[in-house]
Amino acid sequence: MSTKKQLQRQETLRQQLHASGAQLTTQRAAVYDYLSGVDHHPTAEDVFLAVKANLPRISLATVYKNLEALVQCGAVSKLAYGDAAARYDIRTDHHYHTRCLGCGKIWDLDATQESEQLRQIKPQKGFEVRDYRLELLGYCKECRR
Ligand code: ZN
Ligand code: MN
Repeated sequence: MSTKKQLQRQETLRQQLHASGAQLTTQRAAVYDYLSGVDHHPTAEDVFLAVKANLPRISLATVYKNLEALVQCGAVSKLAYGDAAARYDIRTDHHYHTRCLGCGKIWDLDATQESEQLRQIKPQKGFEVRDYRLELLGYCKECRR
């Protein structure tokens, strides 16, 4: 059962995938739906464990490929942090994160006022700024227990 909003979102996703030469498959839709419903920016393995419940034949390799297709078409963004597993974000707009140093989970940070101040920072002469990021590092509620 799908609501009108879900159907519209799926149609947008179908067009985005199509524009990058990919198709909207049942598995891709399941991966996208899972990402839409969580707020902690899961790893490919998290996504795999979650979608496997409804699609028992899906493999981790397929989940990776589906996530990459979603990133390629611009529907999802990928957050990479050195050697740690990449995390996937349903948001593709410019926004900030909080990241737990214990479990590695990432959440969205609402910081519109701070971003205005960040824009005022002047780097060394000759350096042209293209983008900036703000990330708050710490320990989440679960990890602080
Ligand atoms: Zn944590
Ligand atoms: Mn995010």
